[in-house]
Amino acid sequence: MDILKNSISGIKNLYLKKEISPVEVLEQVRTAILQKDREIHSYLHLNEKAFEDARQSEKRYKDGNARELEGIPLAIKDNICTTEQPTTCASKILQNYVSPYNATVINKLRESGAVIIGKTNMDEFAFGSSTENSAFGPTKNPFNLSCVPGGSSGGSAAAVAAELAFGALGSDTGGSIRQPACFCGVAGLKPTYGRVSRYGLVAFGSSLDQIGPITKDVRDSAILLKIIAGKDKKDSTSMDVPVPDYEKEIEKELKPSELKIGIPKEYFVEGIDKQINDRVNTIIKKLEGAGFILEQISLPHTEYGIATYYIIATAEASTNLSRFDGIKYGYRTKNYSNINEIYFRTRGEGFGFEVKRRIVLGTFVLSSGYYDAYYIKAQKVRTLIKEDFKKAFERVDVIITPTTAELPFKIGEKISDPLRMYLSDIFTVNANLSGVPAINVPAGFSEENLPIGIQVFAQPFMEEKILQVAHYIEQNLI
Ligand code: GLN
Repeated sequence: MDILKNSISGIKNLYLKKEISPVEVLEQVRTAILQKDREIHSYLHLNEKAFEDARQSEKRYKDGNARELEGIPLAIKDNICTTEQPTTCASKILQNYVSPYNATVINKLRESGAVIIGKTNMDEFAFGSSTENSAFGPTKNPFNLSCVPGGSSGGSAAAVAAELAFGALGSDTGGSIRQPACFCGVAGLKPTYGRVSRYGLVAFGSSLDQIGPITKDVRDSAILLKIIAGKDKKDSTSMDVPVPDYEKEIEKELKPSELKIGIPKEYFVEGIDKQINDRVNTIIKKLEGAGFILEQISLPHTEYGIATYYIIATAEASTNLSRFDGIKYGYRTKNYSNINEIYFRTRGEGFGFEVKRRIVLGTFVLSSGYYDAYYIKAQKVRTLIKEDFKKAFERVDVIITPTTAELPFKIGEKISDPLRMYLSDIFTVNANLSGVPAINVPAGFSEENLPIGIQVFAQPFMEEKILQVAHYIEQNLI
């Protein structure tokens, strides 16, 4: 078998059986990147210290003290801070910026022995659904190079799908893990808000952002989540809730008759791609056939999700991005004679078009006179969306929907139509607005051989339920 086809758990077994070593595997990954990534462009930087780490891992296997992710090559979205490589957020304003500290998730991965191969491409500051908004050029979908990989974690999803990493981290503010995972046919989990520390994640929408795994299968997402989850004193929004051994949880026998699955009618409406609708419905029928109890439910405020999200997310983004001013970080204009010119020109030259659009939108909804009409109203609707989920979870254990309403679209197809682009997140944003966890599980292919995904939601801090159901679907129904 081609070594690079292995999952995280697969490669770990090969290491333990001494069939291959971390240095050999890293060499293969690097060769594959140099060959394939010229076209796909999933990576922005490669870690020059990776071989050093792989050699240390090799020694640990020899000495019999290998840790959980020892020698496993992983990729990291380029908005997660690393001291050994740049963190650019795919923006000119942070080009060559190297963080003086590691994100908590990076320290956790490294303490578990993972080898970080490189940093992956993304929409600039995670604003987008196609990875076309990167200042360093788009990433392509490994299943069809004329299509987008989704976004904003498109580089991470494409790297995993193209076998250029055994797993990756992404960030999800409105769908940026699940939608690209869906478009690239891999698993991608957005944890509960507060499950994973955001310390060292460059902030987009601080009340929405979460870091999560993008992996070849559901088991690998369980493995990575266990490592990165948990309370962190450096992030006061991270929660002190015990972290289960998710890998053990998915091995427990799932008794279909004890699990109630909600199917929200608002996610199966006109406008959704017919092949996606049919495929997801087929899986739902199979779940019923396997003995799961299904219930039609309603999440009545679903349709307000996109409008609410684009008010709250842009408001928070406009505030968070005020720190990029030419003084504190990264790029500074060459052309200034006073401090105001530094600010204006640095931001004018350093930010891309979509970033500017979001700063303008966010500043507008927070401005006096419009604050009540837009921002406060959106916060109220956010509460209603949250209550929809709360009520639904009084009746059901998990909720199943399609992950996206459309198949991967063509590069260039939506870039000049932001409203159509924003609609790409129609099925994902409400999980962020309400804080609940949700996963994309690959669910087969369209006639054009493009991936289709199914989304599973659960109550806050019940990631194990999501992973169990997702694992069941992946193992038995696809
Ligand atoms: N695509 C959405 C946006 O453009 C979500 C992005 C994200 O989750 N980072 O805002």
